[in-house]
Parts: sequence; C-alpha cells; structure tokens
Amino acid sequence: MFTVGIIGRPNVGKSTLFNRIAGRRIAIVDDMPGVTRDRIEYIAEWQGKKFKILDTCGYDLREDLLKKEMLKQFYASLDESDFFIFLVDGKEGVHPLDEIVCNILREKEKPFILAVNKIDNEKSEANVLEFYALGVDEIIPISATHGKNIDELLDKIAENVVEDDEIDAESRIKIVVVGRPNVGKSSLINKWLKEERLIVTPIPGTTRDSVDTFFEYNDEKYILIDTAGLRKKSVMFKDRIEKYGYYRSYDAIERADIAVGLIDATQGVTERDVKVIADAYEAGRPVVIAVNKWDAVEKDEKLGNKFRREIAEKFKFLNNPPVLFISAVTGKNIYKIFDAVNELYKEYTKRIQTSKLNKLLEEVQMKHQPPVVRNRRVKFYYMTQVGVKPPEFVVFVNYPDAVHFSYRRFIVNQLRESFGFRGVPLIVNYRKRG
Ligand code: GDP
Ligand code: GDP
Repeated sequence: MFTVGIIGRPNVGKSTLFNRIAGRRIAIVDDMPGVTRDRIEYIAEWQGKKFKILDTCGYDLREDLLKKEMLKQFYASLDESDFFIFLVDGKEGVHPLDEIVCNILREKEKPFILAVNKIDNEKSEANVLEFYALGVDEIIPISATHGKNIDELLDKIAENVVEDDEIDAESRIKIVVVGRPNVGKSSLINKWLKEERLIVTPIPGTTRDSVDTFFEYNDEKYILIDTAGLRKKSVMFKDRIEKYGYYRSYDAIERADIAVGLIDATQGVTERDVKVIADAYEAGRPVVIAVNKWDAVEKDEKLGNKFRREIAEKFKFLNNPPVLFISAVTGKNIYKIFDAVNELYKEYTKRIQTSKLNKLLEEVQMKHQPPVVRNRRVKFYYMTQVGVKPPEFVVFVNYPDAVHFSYRRFIVNQLRESFGFRGVPLIVNYRKRG
C-alpha cells in the first residue's frame, strides 16, 4: 500500500501529528527527545484514496545519524515510504538537522511536503517564511495540537497517492547494477534506456519511476533498481552521493533480486571489484558478471580466456556465475545480460520437493559418514526448503553444533550437484530435533 512516512528531527511533533491524523491517541508523546517508540501504522482514507501512515522512530533524525550503523538503518527505513511529511518546528526555526533531512529526501528522490508545525496562532505565522531557505516551493503551516490545516495537509498527500494495483512490482525481476566507480554503471543503464529494444513503462506520479525504472524486454518484465541514483550525478549532491554511496548501493542490493556486477576490462579484476561483488552475493543476490569496455581493449581469444580464468579464480565464491563481455558504449552484448538474469532468476526461485531433499540427505550420509559426538553419531532426520530468493533450507539434526564447517560445505556441494542452483547463494540452517 502507498505508504506515507512522517520524517523530522526529534521533538518537532511527529507523534502528535500522527495521533491527530489517526484521530486517536495511540503513539506515545513525550517531551524528551529520542524516546524509543514502537512502530505504529495507521491506514488512512482521504478523498477516496487509501494510504498507510507510519509512525516510526526510524525517521527520527538524531545527531548521531552520521554513525555508519544508524545511517544504514535510516536509509533502509526510508525505503518503506513512498511519500513523506517532512515536519519542522516553527517555534524553533530552521535547524541544521532539517537541512540534512531535506538533502537526504532529495538524494533519495522521495517526494515530500514540508509542514511547519506549531504554528498555533497568527503571531507565529511569520516564522514560516524562513523555511523557504530549505529550497522548497510550498510549505503547509500546521498545528498538530490544535488540528490546524491538517485537512490541507491530507489533501496534499491524497494528490500524491498512487494506488498499488497500478504497479505490478512483485511480479517483476528486480535488477541492480553494481561495481566500483567508473566501471560504466551509468553508461550501461543509459544505453539500455536509450534504445528502443527495451520498452520503458512510464509510471506517472510515483517516486518509483524516478528512482527505479520499469521496463520490458522480450516479453519479460523487469525493474531496474535505483536508476536515478546512477543516472543523475548532479553537482549539488555529488559529495553526498560519494559519502553515502556505499549505503545507497547497499539498500539497492537489498531491494533487488539479481545483481549485474561490472568489471572494467581496461583495468582487469581489482580487489575492489571482488569486494563490491562479494557484498551483493553475501546479501543473498546472484551476480551476472559483465566485463565492460570490451571495445577499448585488444580483444582476442587469449584476453577473453585470461579474464575467464581470473574470474573463475577470484569469484569462485559465486559458484560459476554467467560471464559476459560487453560494451556500454557500442551496446555489444548488453541485451545478453537479460538472458543471463532470467537464467539466474529461474535458479534463484527454484523449489525442491522435500522427498527429493530427504533422498539427498540419505545419500549424503552414505557417501560421507556424519561425525560422532559424545559417542553418538550425528543423525540427520529430514531436510526441507523453507524459502526462495535466495533458496533456504532447514536440516533437522540431533546435534546441530556437531555438524562442522566441512560437513556443511559437503552438503551444500551435494545440493548443487543434484539440483543445480548455478550462481545462486544457498542458505542451509541446522535445527535441533531430539
Ligand atoms: P516528535 O519527537 O517529533 O514525535 O514530537 P512529539 O509529537 O513528541 O512532540 C514534541 C513536543 O511538541 C510535545 O511537547 C508536543 O506537545 C509539542 N507539540 C507538538 N505539536 C505541537 C503544536 O502544533 N504546537 C505546539 N505548541 N506544540 C506542539
Ligand atoms: P560509473 O561510475 O560506474 O557509473 O561509470 P560511468 O558510466 O560514469 O563511466 C565511467 C567512464 O567510463 C566514462 O568516461 C564512460 O564514458 C566510460 N565508459 C563506460 N562504459 C564504457 C565502454 O563500454 N567502453 C568505453 N570505451 N568506455 C566506457
């Protein structure tokens, strides 16, 4: 459902506003900044539009926001909302943290309306003007405690609501392009989007069309995650993009199904490439490796083979990923990436029947005797797949702790040998059963 977040530094009146909209006192209002509140949601209906309002401490911007962990969480929480009420305190005036929130919203290309709160009477209305310094076109002065202008605020939100069935996001394969700076991520995305072979669906009025791109190719539907972040490198935000760059790509990876990991052919495989791509895989995303700028190197059989060998060695952990040689400049092989993505996605969403897994478990124990602990042999009872994207399995066993790394690896290898899962990370958990 279209989700509206209330964002702002502590004590500007977020909970009070939430309660006002919800029409009942359910969030805890406190004069002390930084009181931890449980996250509360409320489904609102206004002008025939339904949307969800979130009251969450995740949007409470604090002085320690710049600490890495906080920032990561903060960014992740931002993605939960499609639109924001950016709340500031009209009694206190513009605060440095307000500027930070404002910049983050702009970087994220999240639409918002600036509401100046605590404008309880005419006298305080003059305070509103100084907030234009934040560079917004429109401000709604409100009083959360007095219920002033709340209707106008809701009108504004309703105008921006895009109801969910307009976007079939769930059925699409979500792709993210990753790689260290200058490997050609923006060039590749721009090349794809410029060409007519790819049908880009404009989705008016959403934030998502600017942050993510919806498109079709060969009858398959995709979403390219965080396109805007890569397409636009405006001077204004360049520093911040650099600074937050890691976190941006981190949450883009979280939202994606498949990563396309770019490598610069003119530079060879660097440690940084390995790190960036390993991050995506460790987050549970299969990776298509695309060696870019192939137009710019002396290409012959030998160089291709050298890359293949080097990739096989340095990206062994990817479990035999698809490898392509492309050029974002000429367009060579850039559509083959989608074939590779489709193949990985098939493996990524594959389900194996429990009966087959149990047969495998029997074979495993025959091939390789399980260890003995406290004079009792480790016994595997059964195995079942509990999830996809990435595929996740649970093995029930009498002594989970006794199943050591090498035996666990053996089981994963057997899973791959029997069922494929090429290029896909697998999660196998061991749970105790007496
Ligand atoms: P939050 O930390 O942003 O969630 O802020 P709260 O909702 O807890 O409000 C902080 C303080 O500001 C409380 O004492 C509220 O009563 C007060 N407050 C909230 N809205 C208004 C308002 O419209 N006018 C005035 N004068 N005070 C307000
Ligand atoms: P990003 O930082 O990963 O988004 O990389 P960019 O797309 O900004 O590309 C960095 C530089 O590499 C730019 O100067 C591009 O023109 C160049 N570049 C990107 N792709 C190719 C390619 O396929 N061939 C060649 N020769 N240059 C490329």
